[in-house]
Amino acid sequence: MKTAQEYEASLRELKLNIFMFGEKVENPVDHPVIRPSMNSVAKTYELAFDPRYESLMTATSSLTGKKINRFTHLHQSTADLINKVKMQRLLGQKTASCFQRCVGMDAFNAVDSTSFEMDRDLGTQYHQRFRNFMRYVQEEDLTVDGAMTDPKGDRGLRPFQQADPDLYMRVVKRDKDGIIVRGAKCHQTGALNSHEILVMPTINLGEQDQDYAISFALPSDADGILYIYGRQSCDTRKLEGGTLDVGNCRYGGHESLVVFEDVFVPWERVFMCGEYQYAGMMVERFAGYHRQSYGGCKVGVGDVLIGAAAMAAEYNGAAKASHIKDKLVEMIHLNETLYSCGIACSSQGDATASGTYLIDLMLANVCKLNITRFPYEIARLAEDIAGGLMVTMPSEKDLRHPQIGPYVEKYLKGISSVPTEYRMRIMRLIENMTLGAAAVGYRTESLHGAGSPQAQRIMIARQANMEQKKEFARILAGIEEEH
Ligand code: SF4
Ligand code: FE
Repeated sequence: MKTAQEYEASLRELKLNIFMFGEKVENPVDHPVIRPSMNSVAKTYELAFDPRYESLMTATSSLTGKKINRFTHLHQSTADLINKVKMQRLLGQKTASCFQRCVGMDAFNAVDSTSFEMDRDLGTQYHQRFRNFMRYVQEEDLTVDGAMTDPKGDRGLRPFQQADPDLYMRVVKRDKDGIIVRGAKCHQTGALNSHEILVMPTINLGEQDQDYAISFALPSDADGILYIYGRQSCDTRKLEGGTLDVGNCRYGGHESLVVFEDVFVPWERVFMCGEYQYAGMMVERFAGYHRQSYGGCKVGVGDVLIGAAAMAAEYNGAAKASHIKDKLVEMIHLNETLYSCGIACSSQGDATASGTYLIDLMLANVCKLNITRFPYEIARLAEDIAGGLMVTMPSEKDLRHPQIGPYVEKYLKGISSVPTEYRMRIMRLIENMTLGAAAVGYRTESLHGAGSPQAQRIMIARQANMEQKKEFARILAGIEEEH
């Protein structure tokens, strides 16, 4: 396993082609806007060496028998699936951010079982190649960007019908050595902090979409891959040099638009090429795992937000008010409901044909559909408890100013025993999670990440077994025959 320091050093060796704010970024690791997101991923390495968290953060490899970081594990039991969710809650608590490394983990598990079943049914030879890649990932303890979401252009058209055929990632050439791919992947979580990128198709595909049925892995700095950094609310506060106005003084997340300009992939790194019948399975499984993931990470971030709201109430002198206590209980209830869903879909998981465990897809989709709502309500209650000051407060520079600082100090005071700066800090942390840079991960990602709400509704309808429910009703109503 890599230490956090070794992880950071390994990122410095990558030659990523990155643009941000219209300029090329030569040193992403030390860039003040990107650095907090690197700190979050580094935490997944650091905690693996902490004896308190060893059972959650590490696992025994099913491929080599060695101890590995759980973020590179192929789940071998329902206990593994449960530990995954617990690990994600822990990291949410420690970072209050998206720690990015789960997307690759979820992609590994989806590609593993899908490639096995594809080979079994079609006589292809993808699974062994994928397992070789996994051995490499586990040995080197890599962070991998799981890349699914295509730009999609006109949502009313299939990939092959698009006016611009590149709006879904596609194969443009095949030869004896490999394939050439072109396209882009959107909203790529943690792409700049990743050693490798593991690409999957984005939707269920038909026969005419064969060129779009591709899965492969490449080093993140392979020739022709370009990253365009996605900006976040309040991101330039990170360039101001302070620690107060950023809200979260150490951690963050990021997303990028990743462009593939005719990129070569050798055959040994290709895990699907034309088998459109299996695109849907890969998408469904990856999405299912990532919907499970949110039952851990968002809950951990929710824990921090609930704690911050409780501290704000104390600093405001309102902690004893019964409506405040009630609101905090409501937040806890919502948060623990999300966790229950994450644990439930894990405990009801089952082995796939490759031996890798899959979550219960119905419950994982219920988990994520709740995630599209409850964090918004938790955020609303946190804002309610914090008060309007969290969005009207002067800056850190005003607080430190020799002339106006004393006014900020005097008039932003809450209870007399707590320094004004502490009150400002907790307000800014709440702002960061509900409206600022981390709100990407806690709010909008809760809605659209791992698929928008409608995608979960479709899956819930498909998994519901409505005929069986009707049969239960028919028998108990005394209706003799089916009509
Ligand atoms: Fe992990 Fe959550 Fe970020 Fe997805 S959103 S990568 S599950 S922390
Ligand atoms: Fe996500």
